[in-house]
Amino acid sequence: RSFDKIFRQNTPLVQTIISKIRNVTEDLISKGLRNIKIMTFCGTHEWTTVYYGIRSLLPKNIELVAGPGCPVCITPSEVIENAIRLAMEGIRIYTYGDAYRVPILKRGLPRSLMEAESFGGNVKSVYSFLDAIKDSRLYGKESVFLGIGFETTAPAYAIPFAHNIVPKNLSFLSSLRLTPPIMRYTLDLYMKKGIKSIDGVIAPGHVSTIIGAESWEFLPREFSIPTVVAGFEPLDVLLAIVEILRMINENRPGIIIEYRRAVTWHGNLQAKKVIYEVFSIIDAGWRGIGFVPRSGLDLQQKYRNYNAYEIYGLSNHGNNHDDLPPLCKCSEVVLGILKPIDCPLFMKVCTPERPYGPCMVSEEGTCLIWAKYGGFG
Ligand code: SF4
Repeated sequence: RSFDKIFRQNTPLVQTIISKIRNVTEDLISKGLRNIKIMTFCGTHEWTTVYYGIRSLLPKNIELVAGPGCPVCITPSEVIENAIRLAMEGIRIYTYGDAYRVPILKRGLPRSLMEAESFGGNVKSVYSFLDAIKDSRLYGKESVFLGIGFETTAPAYAIPFAHNIVPKNLSFLSSLRLTPPIMRYTLDLYMKKGIKSIDGVIAPGHVSTIIGAESWEFLPREFSIPTVVAGFEPLDVLLAIVEILRMINENRPGIIIEYRRAVTWHGNLQAKKVIYEVFSIIDAGWRGIGFVPRSGLDLQQKYRNYNAYEIYGLSNHGNNHDDLPPLCKCSEVVLGILKPIDCPLFMKVCTPERPYGPCMVSEEGTCLIWAKYGGFG
């Protein structure tokens, strides 16, 4: 496969790393540690893992599980339903291409923003918030930007507000979410449900360029989980696995920045400053999961004239934990409890061409990644 080519060009290096992984794993087995579960938090890490067949290179007792790092997958159905309702009332909704296709739960409404548009709803797909700002200025009528994303995207939303360039006719429907709180929630849930905990975490690289590696420091400190902030090349992922195994073997859980070309300990201070000048931290809903404390961002009171929740009297940010289509296992997939192939609908009812659940929509969605690149190993 052509996409293997770059990876294969590194064969001697890859083999050195693989043999290191094998050596440490044998050591761990000799110490009685048979199964090691490592979470690739970020959808892009899962993409690298599947695309380059990394699971097939690892010893059988190392399990890589995907994590909640897909903003489109976890945006509550209610938030998109609100956007669809507004679009059907003629208010222009700006959205990114992947959010455009996310299926909602509610009956009696078009199934997605895409379907809303085909029924005459006012929906416009854009590449960025700035594109929406430009278009909205020309348009001059009521419009709403559906703001989906994690900490990586938040500065791009915050800066136009901080610089006062958002036109008065454009409001913001925030579905911004924060990643460390959902990681903590996942670990607490594992503990409550008696699920085998995670032995290591590959922390998200892009998010960490903003929030810094320090944001993941609670993982080794409170949960004794070795953590590596990694880049997105296949070698980055393999190196992260080696480092996690080494920390487990030495029984010295810590945090390592493998992605040094982009991530620092404190992150991007200016970006963090502008985010918290514009947004406040709120308890926020995650699709199929429900409210997670202090896991979302919404516009501060001083920007309330731009806040679509206030302007249109919309209900909260997705309290309903039961907002997946029947039988869809997306919440378990997102929390690393199930794999896409454990879902009875995978590649039967739910396919990339006709997504039934939200994890089959975005390029960062585990189900779509597995469906497209075959991560069944
Ligand atoms: Fe949900 Fe589709 Fe994934 Fe099943 S395959 S968990 S229905 S997104």
